[in-house]
Amino acid sequence: MKHGQDRSIAARLAGLRGFAFDLDGTIWEGPRLMPGAVELVGALRGDEIPVVFASNSSRHGARVLHGRLAGLGIESAPGEMLAALELAGEEVARRMGAVRVLALGTDELDDVLVSSGHELVPEHEWKVAQAVVVGIDPHFSYDRLRSAARAVAAGAAFFAVNLDRRFPVGPDEFDPGCGALAEAIAVASGVRPVGIGKPELPLFRTAIERLGCEAHQAAMVGDSTASDIEGGRAAGMFTIWLNAESDGPPPDCVDLRVRNLGELLRAWREARGGRV
Ligand SMILES: [Mg+2]
Repeated sequence: MKHGQDRSIAARLAGLRGFAFDLDGTIWEGPRLMPGAVELVGALRGDEIPVVFASNSSRHGARVLHGRLAGLGIESAPGEMLAALELAGEEVARRMGAVRVLALGTDELDDVLVSSGHELVPEHEWKVAQAVVVGIDPHFSYDRLRSAARAVAAGAAFFAVNLDRRFPVGPDEFDPGCGALAEAIAVASGVRPVGIGKPELPLFRTAIERLGCEAHQAAMVGDSTASDIEGGRAAGMFTIWLNAESDGPPPDCVDLRVRNLGELLRAWREARGGRV
């Protein structure tokens, strides 16, 4: 990178008024915090820079994620935790009004849909479903796939809480993501799902609102170029890609690449006044 580019990146870093963090693979990986997470979040809070945690989680809402983060040593206020799952009911209602939904997901997904005014239909009544909403479904099965695919093929609208193929649960370990389950329904029905979480805009918009600054003054920090970084760029945010592996030039949607959160903390402190 040229010196002029370095200076302009440092100036943008120094001018940031809020940080949004992805969770899986960014703040934590399976049962462990990522190195440097406590120090970085602590330093931002020490300088009164607002933070939010913006997860694509399709299994859990903010309350469970808040508890998990606290258990790992980082406290968060209620408004600081955002989960794609919590937008599902509102997004379906915004597009269709209150409808009959065949939901494939956790009890928390069911609760979110019902609290937004939708009526849940059981699997065997797929013919009356007006929408199918898919999250990580602990009871996913051939029968559920059949019902969902038939409903979508018959005209029900098709939503996925996110389109992530997988999520990290430990070093070199992953679990299949919501996108993997949605893809099975897409293949069988011949219809592509509408994504609700990152990289779509609603979660980023809410994150920026909670940070209380302009989009260009907000950072999106994440490990996924497809969801965190492309979506953050589309929302007008400063994008910081956490990636320890690739050495080549980063994709164009990346403003700053760091190998770990400790490197980000050092870069931020240097940009803010040469303190390391
Ligand atoms: Mg991630």
